[in-house]
Amino acid sequence: AENEKIAVVTGANKGIGFAIVKGLCEKFKGKVYLTARNVELGNNAVEKLKEMGFNPQFHQLNVDDPDSINNFKLYIECTVGGIDVLINNAGFAFKNDAIDPPGVQAEVTVATNYFGTLHVCEALFPLLRNDAQVINVSSSCGHLSRIPSSQLRTKFSNPNLTVAELSKMMHQFVRDAKDNKHVEKGWGNSMYVVSKVAVSALTVIQQKEFDKDPKKRNISANSVHPGYVATDMSSYKGPLTIEEGARAPLYLALEPHKLKGQYMWYDTRVVDW
Ligand code: NDP
Repeated sequence: AENEKIAVVTGANKGIGFAIVKGLCEKFKGKVYLTARNVELGNNAVEKLKEMGFNPQFHQLNVDDPDSINNFKLYIECTVGGIDVLINNAGFAFKNDAIDPPGVQAEVTVATNYFGTLHVCEALFPLLRNDAQVINVSSSCGHLSRIPSSQLRTKFSNPNLTVAELSKMMHQFVRDAKDNKHVEKGWGNSMYVVSKVAVSALTVIQQKEFDKDPKKRNISANSVHPGYVATDMSSYKGPLTIEEGARAPLYLALEPHKLKGQYMWYDTRVVDW
């Protein structure tokens, strides 16, 4: 049906993304796309949900790969035509004991968490319908206070910051990490923190752009800290279940609310970024 609602979740073959798809299958009145970079893992996840009585659709989507993003965009454009809920959940973190040099860790982490999210948004935003919800999965590590330098914090939270300037900051961060100067330059020692602070900053900018949207689509963009959740990423150290981690993204996707450009905690509390 032409007016059928469409939801898309990235990185949904496991973990919090999988639980978000499950929750959408339970409560979202429309079609749900489970996307994953690995086709086999994605199809296995869909099979698991089918065994539970749900019926998500699968499509490949690697947020690091421009061709994959473009294929998905064309597919949505040619089939269902638009998107009502976009949940950018795909994310990556090195383990604490990783031995890769800081420059590599910075580049890889920022590539997926920031640039991957950004590129998916740039491709899919033109397909968003009226009243669409964009939900960017950030982290408690995406809180501005996690950046040591007050100068950098001021830059991240500058109300006039553009996406181009934010992307430039991320390129600078990667260069600083390659020179092993990221701590000295005030970014701190966590590549993951920098990438997630950038996701939260991006969300604020995206909302400002939607507010100026000539098409007046009334779109909202919010970021979420899903909580500390037992997944591969946390090496199952987080106390929350994946269903509990999916709570805030599902709240933003499903419940009527007027939140725009906000940063929400796992218990659905709005937190000052
Ligand atoms: P998992 O590692 O369990 O899942 C991450 C998902 O992202 C996987 O499906 C993974 O696919 C996918 N992914 C990674 N890179 C890409 C890519 N380039 N393209 C598409 N998909 C990709 O982690 P979680 O479920 O814990 O994390 C989900 C989100 O929640 C992330 O953004 C994470 O940063 C955030 N988060 C998690 C917390 C936690 O405590 N777990 C705390 C705060 C935030 P694949 O299986 O192929 O690797």
